[in-house]
Amino acid sequence: MTVMELNQQAHDLARKTSKLLIDGEWVEAASGKTFETLNPASEESLGWVAQGEAEDINRAVRSARRCFDDERSDWRRMTASERGKVLHRIGDLIERHADELALLETLDNGKPITVAKAADVALAADLFHYMSGWATKIEGNTIPISHVTSPGSEFLAYTRKEPVGVVGQIIPWNFPLLMAAWKLGPALAAGVTVVLKPAEQTPLSALRLGELMLEAGLPAGVVNIVTGFGDAGAALAAHDSVDKVAFTGSTEVGRLIVQAAVGNLKKVTLELGGKSPQVLYKDADMDVAIPGAANGIFFNQGQCCNAGSRLYIQKDVFDNVVQGISDEAKKITVGPGIEPDTQMGPLTSAEQRDKVLGYISSGFDAGARAASGGGRVGNRGYFVEPTVLTDTTPDMKVVREEIFGPVVVAIPFGSEEDVVRSGNDTSFGLASGIWTRDINKAHRTANRLRAGTVWINCYSVFDAAMPFGGYKESGWGREMGHNALDNYLETKSVVAKLA
Ligand code: NAP
Ligand code: MG
Repeated sequence: MTVMELNQQAHDLARKTSKLLIDGEWVEAASGKTFETLNPASEESLGWVAQGEAEDINRAVRSARRCFDDERSDWRRMTASERGKVLHRIGDLIERHADELALLETLDNGKPITVAKAADVALAADLFHYMSGWATKIEGNTIPISHVTSPGSEFLAYTRKEPVGVVGQIIPWNFPLLMAAWKLGPALAAGVTVVLKPAEQTPLSALRLGELMLEAGLPAGVVNIVTGFGDAGAALAAHDSVDKVAFTGSTEVGRLIVQAAVGNLKKVTLELGGKSPQVLYKDADMDVAIPGAANGIFFNQGQCCNAGSRLYIQKDVFDNVVQGISDEAKKITVGPGIEPDTQMGPLTSAEQRDKVLGYISSGFDAGARAASGGGRVGNRGYFVEPTVLTDTTPDMKVVREEIFGPVVVAIPFGSEEDVVRSGNDTSFGLASGIWTRDINKAHRTANRLRAGTVWINCYSVFDAAMPFGGYKESGWGREMGHNALDNYLETKSVVAKLA
């Protein structure tokens, strides 16, 4: 297919999937309002999408509530095995529609289509397949209680794991389909019902996923999708009939979610930002470490919550490694994601491009230098050069704050002791990376970095079976693995006195 045909196909898809999914029906927003979603490579319109607001959130929550509260609903009567089969079919349908989903993702988000297909879509399908197996393995325990207050009595005591109820899920634009999968997979395995609010910049793949979920046999009302802006997310987070909210996005909005949840003390899990350190020791295998560390920051245009954006390089090899990372940066082919040779696409929005460029100039103003990059690419589309900054100081904004773009700060260090201290000198704690041939040093450093994930001689290796989440201000709770089920389950203790 030519690039023009691909573009046409995506426009057709965008037009088709543009309403809200409420109670199994595709409906307009109550206000009739719509908003435009853009192609960040060309700044052209991809189509118009229903703009859900508080009233639509109300409708969606009512639908999810009905579906959950009615014990005779198709969803509540489904056995765990049937639920697992639906999840598996969702994974199969994602695989079957991989090209189409990858295309939507590339056009809406900007990422290279090769990455969209091999990473986003493949991981989303795998996540549903993995979670499908958990539906039948959600178990409580029988517990030998000692009943010191009722000597001589006999009890049967056990726990049950029950779905938490109606869940609001709010997701960002950096991996639109995959973030929907991370949230929906474990939620559906656990048996809850959901209102999903995709990011305003990238609503399309979640809507297409909604269609595929219905096709897979998910009953009406189990997953409701309300596209819209932050006000829709805020209404969902504050809603009294929502039992739990699961959020991925900025730490700033994460704090607002916690405040909004106070009213009915709904449960909250958060997957927030990061400023993750990569530690590159002088004994690293440079052929692996240099391209690996570069990919650790530049993957997905640097728009990864886990981006390895602080690169600590041992002094003896600092100049060589900076040169190597800069050479890697200069080799990256930047262009529209639908071009097959593109390795880095545009950032997802004009706002994000300007934010990233603002950070780079704040670095320059404070005395940092660019070993490569440092500016915009072209004058159409939201492209930013892959950028390596040196000569930073620990107090600079570019060192302390999440940039969420293709910008790494390269910082020299002396000893293992020093780099553990600097690596941990952050309010975040999402991820980290270690590059070394010394297995003892690798694991010692891994133990001491205060982060939810440590990658050794690799970076950004995600798997549906591995928990992922943050220490400190990077979040509450874990996504993926069996840990993710806990986000959507309550534990009930049942104690029966035996006569
Ligand atoms: P964001 O505002 O945190 O957006 C995440 C999601 O929350 C979106 O669906 C957003 O809707 C929604 N939202 C916004 N305000 C809300 C509110 N008051 N209550 C409930 N939901 C709300 O992130 P952003 O504005 O897209 O990006 C800003 C910065 O966040 C980025 O520059 C980056 O640093 C960081 N970020 C981090 C991650 C991550 O994975 N850790 C992901 C994305 C962004 P709208 O899309 O309509 O605003
Ligand atoms: Mg926003």
